[in-house]
Amino acid sequence: MVSFALNGVGVSSGIAIGRAQLVSHATLEVAHYTISPSKVDVEIERFTNAVKEVQKELEGLHVAMTGGDVPGEFGAFLDVHWMILSDSTLSEAPKRLILEQRCNAEWALTQQLAVLVEQFEQIEDPYLRERKSDIVQVGERILKRLMGMRGTLRAPIAEEQTILVAHDLSPADVIQFKSHHYGAFLTDVGGATSHTAIVARSLNVPAVVATHNARQLIRDTEMLIVDGDSGVVIVNPDRAVLSEFRLKQSQLDLERQKLKRLRSKRAETIDGEHVELYANIELPGDLAQTLENGATGVGLFRSEFLFLNRKGLPSEDEQFEAYRAVAQGMHGRPVTIRTFDLGADKHLEGLGGLSRVAPNPALGLRAVRFCLAEPRLFLTQLRAILRASHYGRVRILVPMLASSSEIDQTLQMIEQAKEHLREQGVPFDSSIEIGGMIEIPAAILAMDAFLSKLDFLSIGTNDLIQYTLAVDRADEAVAHLYDPLHPAIIRLLALAIGTAKKARKPIAVCGEMAGEVDLTRLLLGLGLRHFSMHPAHLLAVKQRVLTTEVAALKGLVERIRRADGPEKIAALVDRLNAL
Ligand code: PEP
Ligand code: MG
Repeated sequence: MVSFALNGVGVSSGIAIGRAQLVSHATLEVAHYTISPSKVDVEIERFTNAVKEVQKELEGLHVAMTGGDVPGEFGAFLDVHWMILSDSTLSEAPKRLILEQRCNAEWALTQQLAVLVEQFEQIEDPYLRERKSDIVQVGERILKRLMGMRGTLRAPIAEEQTILVAHDLSPADVIQFKSHHYGAFLTDVGGATSHTAIVARSLNVPAVVATHNARQLIRDTEMLIVDGDSGVVIVNPDRAVLSEFRLKQSQLDLERQKLKRLRSKRAETIDGEHVELYANIELPGDLAQTLENGATGVGLFRSEFLFLNRKGLPSEDEQFEAYRAVAQGMHGRPVTIRTFDLGADKHLEGLGGLSRVAPNPALGLRAVRFCLAEPRLFLTQLRAILRASHYGRVRILVPMLASSSEIDQTLQMIEQAKEHLREQGVPFDSSIEIGGMIEIPAAILAMDAFLSKLDFLSIGTNDLIQYTLAVDRADEAVAHLYDPLHPAIIRLLALAIGTAKKARKPIAVCGEMAGEVDLTRLLLGLGLRHFSMHPAHLLAVKQRVLTTEVAALKGLVERIRRADGPEKIAALVDRLNAL
């Protein structure tokens, strides 16, 4: 057997060794034939039934998901698929083609899919362009139904790890990873912001995307090594390569096992500085992972996932139940609920301003701006959060604040929600803490209002970097310019942390930077004592905290603050990590 390597983009780390299982690509096998005029109605009905079956299939997946141990992103993806399926361009247009061309339903659908894909390829916005793969995935589900195939994956081959190889995988397919425990997956297409990548990361399964033609080159049951860090895939490795990777794999396992011992250890530096390590979550189902990794609180509950994970809006009671579950599950430890951050890349159909296509969505009606424009929606959420505050230590976090007037309006809305509850005699924590996210450079350069009006702050570095460097965080074409070590970012972080400290206001970082272990010492050196991150990163960051002497970082951090280029900063950060 010939051994060869493929290169892709590693999007979820770890090493997997196992046998390939190819996922078939339904569109490749579509038949084309003409039908008699008397059969047109039957053919249209066959198509309508296939669409209905897929609707039921998606509904079934939604129900399976509410069990709680499925990452929050799946719900949002299912919603997108549901919307695509309900759109007439996919569910109605093929019927017209059957009628006009007197062709079979599979062929009508394939033609319509080709038209839609072409339209999506013309779109400049990379996020919207990526939705093309969702349309193909939904189309393939209908095709599979028409062709009598079930839209599910086979169970893994045997005891050995199974590695899925696909042109693209739909999030609905990936849900089955939960019960089948696939070892890894590879796809021909996708980027770091693709659905596949997001899902892989939240499942902790090694994954490589953008391999271009893995699906064509790899045969079923061939032996594969997937390195999710380097993005390398080795097909039919020889014995020497296999044992080298097995060694690497067991070293990684050992490191993971060792880290588990730190779960209940207090996060403290060598020189006795205490550090809070909180978790970022999307749904109440993420609590188990949060507790397993020893989080001392929830620093960011991205509540908008409750809104994306469904067809209609969740009622106040439904939201209350979700927030209360987290508040109670954390047993008195802080639970920071971010009011919903909809808009930009998180769309919600049929909701006021969000249904319109904004010329520049990241700078548009997003997060708190949208909340203030939709006061009824905002009040409902605020009431639900306040009610949950009676059952634990809940805090409110408001995203994307830029100006003093937005803070005032938000505080007024919270007062109004409190008043409603008082009138109804509903209990809540009347001294609930209210914090603001620092995600826009303006918020750092004019922090006074934030410091005087809010109880705590949390820096969202994902957006702060996007807005400071004018680099769309979801656009792979400018991904090389998205740099957490740009001098402007370092200086803004230093300024924000220093200013909050002087004012004795707690400040955290809850963007991806907080979970990057190679940046832990830099952030500690800048004065940060409060990190919030994906639960999977908590123990590695804790280990770095435990092996750091803050006083020893001072000289290098000073040089980093004055350095004028990202390369210099990166070299100095390497030196910090080598201390
Ligand atoms: C951030 O912007 O850094 C953040 C934590 O919020 P989100 O990633 O949800 O925009
Ligand atoms: Mg943000």
